[in-house]
Amino acid sequence: MGLFEKKGDPIFWKEDSHAEAELQRLNELREHAPEEIARQMDQDIKLIAAGLSGEKNVAYELKNSHIPMYVLHDLYLVKDELSAQIDYLVLTKKCSIVIECKNLFGNIEINSRGDFIRTLPQGRGYKKECIYSPITQNQRHMELIRDLCLEAKGAVMGYFFDRWFPDFYKPIVVLANPKTVLNDRYAKKEVKAQVIRADHLIETIRELNRASKSASSSDKQMKETAEKFLEWNQPQPMSFVEKYEKLLAQQEKVCPLCGGKMVKRVAKKGAYAGEEFWGCENFPHCRHMEKII
Ligand SMILES: [Zn+2]
Repeated sequence: MGLFEKKGDPIFWKEDSHAEAELQRLNELREHAPEEIARQMDQDIKLIAAGLSGEKNVAYELKNSHIPMYVLHDLYLVKDELSAQIDYLVLTKKCSIVIECKNLFGNIEINSRGDFIRTLPQGRGYKKECIYSPITQNQRHMELIRDLCLEAKGAVMGYFFDRWFPDFYKPIVVLANPKTVLNDRYAKKEVKAQVIRADHLIETIRELNRASKSASSSDKQMKETAEKFLEWNQPQPMSFVEKYEKLLAQQEKVCPLCGGKMVKRVAKKGAYAGEEFWGCENFPHCRHMEKII
């Protein structure tokens, strides 16, 4: 029996998502946040949730593809000073696909220069705005993958790898919102080929496999590559959580009994001697105190 127990079914080796954990922590922080910060948090929570739901659309397509492949979700790769968060890395027999998932609200136009222009409803009309090109973003991910692989291969093998890389590793941007209308009429051919809607993903993966000039990988080789990437995967910083923890820490804490400022103090005696706690500035007139969470 080969690695693919049911011939042709994809194997999901890494399904967990950093964003899911971050979202949960943000929701916890939000419960104790003052209104102004909570409103700001809502924006970011909405964005992260939209990203997650887009990634789920992509997972659904991949799971129902019946293509033998390894799927690694949410990889965080680091090389020297650079890092790349890769939504999906799909390893098939004849090519590996680096997927950048975008769940955008509004319609997308890609012009002849490769700019991404989004149209959003505003009042009774529409507004247009440029967004950072996900193709450029994905290109940076590709370069980092290439550098990591080159380093692992050594100089001699690296020479061959470098020539083979563009045919084997393919970047794809998936627009995961089923309502998005994509207008790429004026986009260059190579740009057009890289941006697809989620419902075209499987067809695109098959097409890339057909077109690839690389030799077909064995099940064992695919497994080894998947293992390599899992080894390279690093813990991700929770940048939104860090941002709000810092903001919340800077907030002035107010005493619920007298409205005075709460200040950090160190317990001098008792069971908690040496430990910090929140005490009211009006001590000893007000003896309210709280634990530091
Ligand atoms: Zn007080």
